Order: sequence, then structure tokens, then C-alpha cells
Amino acid sequence: MSNTAAPVLSVQNLRVSFDTQDGTVRAVDDISFDVYAGETICIVGESGSGKSVMAGSIMRLNNSSTATTEGKILVNGIDVLTASEEEVRGIRGSEVAMIFQDPMSALNPYFTIGKQIAEAYVVHHPGASKREVHDVVLAMMIKVGIPSPEKRIDEYPHQFSGGMRQRIVIAIALVNNPKILIADEPTTALDVTVQAQILDLMMSLQKEFGMTIILITHDLGVVAEVAQDVIVMYAGHIVEQSHVDALFHSPTHPYSWGLLGSVASYGANKRGDLYTISGSPPSLISLPAGCAFHPRCVHSKGSGNACMTVQPKLRDVGTDGSRSACHLTDDVLISIGRGSDRS
Ligand code: SF4
Repeated sequence: MSNTAAPVLSVQNLRVSFDTQDGTVRAVDDISFDVYAGETICIVGESGSGKSVMAGSIMRLNNSSTATTEGKILVNGIDVLTASEEEVRGIRGSEVAMIFQDPMSALNPYFTIGKQIAEAYVVHHPGASKREVHDVVLAMMIKVGIPSPEKRIDEYPHQFSGGMRQRIVIAIALVNNPKILIADEPTTALDVTVQAQILDLMMSLQKEFGMTIILITHDLGVVAEVAQDVIVMYAGHIVEQSHVDALFHSPTHPYSWGLLGSVASYGANKRGDLYTISGSPPSLISLPAGCAFHPRCVHSKGSGNACMTVQPKLRDVGTDGSRSACHLTDDVLISIGRGSDRS
């Protein structure tokens, strides 16, 4: 977690809100984190926790007519939020690329996959010859494991399976060798066996390209397999940031305990009971005062009224680099996180 190198991505005090007919949705509220070269960082949380909005902000994809975005997102020294359209176009694809859950919606059904990979390359290599582009496209198809690329380069997205389509999307994302790949639930829409293949592919391409991966997922099994660091989000806030081993062995936030409680191999207390979270996430239009998690938190009484009145700040807990946004004392968080007092 601590790192002396400069981060490849620095998100600073990011706030994103959307004006709707029902009121202002506070999707992301004052989050900050750094990401370093070559690491895999997972962002976890329930639907509506703000993780996808945060990721979209890094690519400046949120609708500017309804979204209000504050803070800084530094990529290669450029603040994405205030950069010119031209600077952002330069960043997309070559510095930061993104893949999404549904590969079909990311592909144009009217163009061959070869043309779509080529188009992504030509944006950043406008002077490339036809021969060069053709060779790059074939090489990318081979790298992502599309069989018979010479034959399939002229086929359309509907002629491929879901897993193959996601491989094509990955080829498009990586064709300009970006430093950062943001993957938003990239395997959720795929069969279980294909999910593992796509994750393996991403991990092997990460080694080959040396890129950083920011993986957004709700699947803690995936987190355990690939992450180095983990950010846990709840109601637009970061509630815990920990090394993956620390998160699974001694999580330091009551919400993390609940999330892990849904996974049998991690969540059982000493009696073998699973720890679960009651209730549902709050509306982002009218968040509870104090800690947004307090209506669902069985430990809120342990820190008195502060839970209902004061929003806890993310702070260091213990000595392993874990950070938690909770009013409970370090001793209590560490003790419960290790499972010895989990009720
Ligand atoms: Fe629970 Fe209070 Fe900690 Fe929030 S601050 S997670 S309500 S104990």
C-alpha cells in the first residue's frame, strides 16, 4: 500500500453527483486513492456503491449535462477532469482503456471485428500503413486467443461466442498498449468456465504488457485470486482500503465483515455461523446522517452517537497499511476483524 514511486493514477477528493427529477444523487463522495504501475487493484461493493461511476470518471465518460464532478484525477500528470477534449482523446486508449460487462454493447454489430480493432489502433497511429495496421490487428487477435485470426478477421461480432467477444473487446482495449486497464465487471455476463479463461487472459496480458489493472467486481472469489490491493466502497464512499491478504484475514470495517460473511470459506465465525448484513443500501439521494452504513451496522452502538452524527474519515488502522472509515477503536476493529469477537 505504501509506495515511494509516483502513482500512475491519482484520484483526489473525487465527488460525482447527478441531478435527477427526484433530487441530487451523490454517487461518489470525496474519495481519494493512488494506483501504482503494474499492480492489480480491485474495487468491490454492492450495486449503487459508486464504483462504476468512479471508473467512468477516470475516462471522463459521465454525462456532463447531468453530472457534476469535483476533485482531481491525475493520469500521467494531466488532470482528466479539466483536460481539453483533445488531451482526453489522447489519454483514452493509449494511457487508460476500459472494458465493460457486456461485450456485445461495446462492439458495433455492423463492422467486422478486424475493422474495429484497426480503428482503435489508427486513432493513435494516424500515419500507419494498411500493412502495419493489418499486422497489428492479427497480432492482437493472436495475443487474446482468437483462433484462425486470418479467417476470422473479417467476421462480425454476432459470429462469435460471448467469451470470444470479450476477447475482441480486450484486443481493442489493449491495441495501443495502455498503462492502465479498467475492467468493469468484465466476466459477470459470461459462463463460469469462460469467466476463468477471461481472467487468466487478463492476468497473462498484464504480465506481457506490464499494465496496471483496476478491476471492478462484486465477486470476492475473483478478488482473492487476482488483487493486490482492494478498495471497498459503500454508498459512494471508500470504507476500507487494504492489501488483499489483510482484507481476507483481518478486515477492518463492519461492512467488509458483512461482505466476507457471504463467502463461506471466509465469513464463518468460530461457531461456524455466517455473518450477514441486514437491510439494503441507502438511497443516494437521501443518505443517512453520520456513517451511511449505520442503519445496517450491528456495531454502531459500540461507538456511541458518533455513528449517527459524524461521517467517519478513512484512516490507518493497525500497522499493515489497512485503512478504514469507522468510529470503532483500532483494537476493536482488529479484534473483530480477526474473527475472535465476531458475533
Ligand atoms: Fe458501524 Fe459506526 Fe463503524 Fe459506521 S462508524 S461502520 S455505523 S460502527
